[in-house]
Amino acid sequence: MAKASGKKLASKGKKVKVKKEGKKLSALYEISGDSIKRKNRTCPKCGPGMFMGKHKNRVVCGSCGYVEMVKKAVVEEKKE
Ligand SMILES: [Zn+2]
Repeated sequence: MAKASGKKLASKGKKVKVKKEGKKLSALYEISGDSIKRKNRTCPKCGPGMFMGKHKNRVVCGSCGYVEMVKKAVVEEKKE
């Protein structure tokens, strides 16, 4: 039987740096005339200024972990 002898750890650890694509803050706002609309939801716990990440059926605060379900199934997903 093929016994796996010698633990070969696949440690070809090429650390691939994942570049976090810096979201432009301006993309989160929509300026119409004098008023500014926030596109994303803000966290009720962290207060305004802390935007929540959009997911398929929920929005999640990356800071405190607050999750809020979104009933509407229509969530625009940004395709990059
Ligand atoms: Zn939060």
